[in-house]
Amino acid sequence: MAITLFVTLVVVVLAAGLFVFRAIPAIRAYFNYRGKRLITCPETHKAEAVDVAAGEAAIGAFLSEPTLRLKECSRWPERQNCGQECLQQIEIGPENCLLWNIVSQWYEGKSCVLCHKPIGELHHLDHAPALLGPDSKTAEWREFRPEQLPDVFSTHQPVCWNCHVTETFRRLHPELVVDRAFEPKRMM
Ligand SMILES: [Zn+2]
Repeated sequence: MAITLFVTLVVVVLAAGLFVFRAIPAIRAYFNYRGKRLITCPETHKAEAVDVAAGEAAIGAFLSEPTLRLKECSRWPERQNCGQECLQQIEIGPENCLLWNIVSQWYEGKSCVLCHKPIGELHHLDHAPALLGPDSKTAEWREFRPEQLPDVFSTHQPVCWNCHVTETFRRLHPELVVDRAFEPKRMM
């Protein structure tokens, strides 16, 4: 009886150890491959936005190797049966093609073109910075389709969230905005 219990315990401990041992690369694969990415489509040589099936990559890593497959692409559903050759770009540099990193890098060290304050770091929940277009309209970077962003970045200028809100209000309600000239404080 005692031996049976001991053997059962050893098996349970070994199984738990093996599970944790395999779970670590699986969790790593999931976090490595989730998120929207920009790749250059090998067919059109244009930027396209893709999502890797991160859950599937994690299961693959749990069993042996992470298996990469696309879950979404901006060229789908038309090109849903393509060979997914762009996955090579993701395998080579999963971090480099992550949309969040591309946007962060573009804003890095830049200042708002309107108030000249530094844009600062990009935050997930905080006020997102915006862009000023050639038509003098501002828009948050998230309002653009991800695959448009490389082109947008070459024609637009960085704008902070505060200025974007002010400019949007000014554009939508010009009748409510009064631009006062600067008055120096009167000395008593
Ligand atoms: Zn500003």
